[in-house]
Amino acid sequence: MSNQHLLTNELTELDKKHFIHPTSSIKEQQENGPAVILKEGHGVYVTDINGKTYIEGMASLWNVNVGYGRKELAQAAKEQMEQLAFSSCFATFSNEPAIRLAAKLAEITPGDLSAVFFTSGGSESNDTAYKLVRHYWKLKGYPNKTKIISRKKAYHGVAIGATSATGIQDFQNMTTALAPEFIHADTFSADSVREIIEREGAENIAAFLAEPIQGAGGVNIPPDGYFQAIRKICDENNILFIADEVITGFGRTGKMFACEHWNVVPDVMLIAKGITSGYIPLGAVVLREKLHRDLIQLSEGTLLHGFTYSGHPTACAVALRNIQIIEEENLVENARLMGEELHKQLKMLQSELPIVGEVRSLGLIGALEIVKNKQTNERFEKKLAPIIIHEARQRGLILRTVTFGDADTIVFSPPLVINKQEIEKMFQILRDSIIAVMNDE
Ligand code: PMP
Repeated sequence: MSNQHLLTNELTELDKKHFIHPTSSIKEQQENGPAVILKEGHGVYVTDINGKTYIEGMASLWNVNVGYGRKELAQAAKEQMEQLAFSSCFATFSNEPAIRLAAKLAEITPGDLSAVFFTSGGSESNDTAYKLVRHYWKLKGYPNKTKIISRKKAYHGVAIGATSATGIQDFQNMTTALAPEFIHADTFSADSVREIIEREGAENIAAFLAEPIQGAGGVNIPPDGYFQAIRKICDENNILFIADEVITGFGRTGKMFACEHWNVVPDVMLIAKGITSGYIPLGAVVLREKLHRDLIQLSEGTLLHGFTYSGHPTACAVALRNIQIIEEENLVENARLMGEELHKQLKMLQSELPIVGEVRSLGLIGALEIVKNKQTNERFEKKLAPIIIHEARQRGLILRTVTFGDADTIVFSPPLVINKQEIEKMFQILRDSIIAVMNDE
């Protein structure tokens, strides 16, 4: 047996025995071992321990925006780690990277979003926001404003609050005893939000929470006018609007933040993922200036909410360098331009292949539906998207599916550094994979 085989076998056995994977099938892991053991990455490509190379069509978890192998980010981490790897920001201790990053986020987020609370990821940003908006209303003299309206098919993470806000049933069914006070509106219906407010009473509702484009729920893009209507409803009812830009932030949709497509400024913006392109964990909650001013005026004593890693100097230094790359290399504009290519390719697949139904995308986030019948949208009894992405992986392309409920969907979210040839290559592999699976059925 070659050394390579010995290494693969050793790692596979250790993985099965000791590693409980996030959002993975424990049974499948035991039967087949880890799907891929990755070793390195450059640009839009990743390579496994056997030397097989793949296009990372999902930028891993929608987050490696500047692509793999960026030495600048390694350098930023190294320099900060050597200087001051970590120090806490409790009791108003501070550090330069955290201060500069907070100021930078205030500059690049829309409108008067300007005050930043740091976390280590999207779930922490969500749970922090739920506590902060309730804290805010309590200080303002409205302690009953506690309910949070989120939406069906929403994904907000896996902390107990974030799971409760999530509108994909399967995630909620995984456990019991969720957090109370979350209500799920229909995905793109402003009327559904109005009805909930009427039923529950605006005096009991703290916030409305939404991803500008739902990611894990299937890349669901709102119709024009929806978020403008939501902003108005929130203003009229004294309800805060929380935008979860964890996936859509930092250029993914062809704007720095997706809310900008509809000229809507949320009261609270949640970010993570693309803030460091995944090179190191970091998230943040950004508040509008008015909320910050009210907090300054009304708060007393200590704000008893803070993670050990809130304002982590090394994570913040990497984020600053990452944002600099996004700006210097015009990656937001590249996402917009390459997004047009991606959309063209999706349309081509739809016109060429009988089982590709609806396609949708905005910038470099997109989805296609696998259907048995394009006219009626009828689905195959057995879902084909998972078989197709398995086939694509054999052929050197990593993608992801959404299969909750009756969905049979393939989603796309490549690194923002992708070029036209790489998009064409990605879609050629996908086309071949769909055809191979179609011919087998
Ligand atoms: N919000 C959204 C919109 C997300 O897509 C995710 C992660 N996919 C989260 C929150 C949770 O982020 P994390 O996994 O970093 O906790």
